[in-house]
Amino acid sequence: MSLEARGVTAGYGGTDVLVGADVAVRPGEMVGIIGPNGAGKSTLLRALTRRLPLRAGHVLLDDRELDRWPRLALARALAVVPQTATLPPGYTVAELVAMGRTPHQGLWRPASREDREAVSWALDHTDTRHLRDRSAEELSGGERQRVVLARALAQRPRMLLLDEPTTHLDLRYQVELLTLTRHEVARGLGALVVLHDLNLAARACDRLAVLSAGRVVAQGTASEVLTAPLVRRVFGEGVEVRPDGERPLVLPRFGGT
Ligand code: ADP
Repeated sequence: MSLEARGVTAGYGGTDVLVGADVAVRPGEMVGIIGPNGAGKSTLLRALTRRLPLRAGHVLLDDRELDRWPRLALARALAVVPQTATLPPGYTVAELVAMGRTPHQGLWRPASREDREAVSWALDHTDTRHLRDRSAEELSGGERQRVVLARALAQRPRMLLLDEPTTHLDLRYQVELLTLTRHEVARGLGALVVLHDLNLAARACDRLAVLSAGRVVAQGTASEVLTAPLVRRVFGEGVEVRPDGERPLVLPRFGGT
């Protein structure tokens, strides 16, 4: 499934925060959105998922305007892991992950074998099975983040949007989460992921789009995009970019070094 923003402008109150953004994700592709704080990354994700109305432009899912998708078909196809996902209190982890199946189930119908398999698979692949009987309130930030991902994966979406999914995760789980997502991407999932860590983004994603002050200022492979002039212009002078095999390595530069 493909997702495409064409000339998307969106914002809040009197301000356009995102201006004329063009971004496309094809099936079997993982695209990283990078950019400094306040650049408009979360706003782009909101515009791409109808949580924020467009002021100009189009969002197309499989070449059809998002607004023209029936609600249920859209709920099955598209999964979003927001930056601050709230998990409703009073449920066990297994119940929360099973909520990912809601768009596939008829009202009041018991879970099918397919539902149970999807939940079981998601628990295994996010290393949350051992938490299945715990309630979400008892979990650490990183555990909660994995449960939110498990819920999204249990949905078996065809397009996955992730807003800084690695924020609360240690390095091992950051790599595991992106490796798991890549595994699904290799099977045809499309993924758009907002990432803070440029080196992680460079290694995990097929392509990167750089947002700066609400505009997409560069798009392409990591080595096309993460050039020293662009990285300094967008993120400031305190960085250096070194070649590292196929992908550049972005490092902080401290006074005089
Ligand atoms: P990023 O995800 O790149 O950090 P955001 O998309 O969250 O950036 O924010 C872009 C700009 O929009 C910021 O200036 C932010 O203050 C503003 N903004 C974000 N959300 C809202 C909102 N709900 N109401 C008003 N302004 C907002």
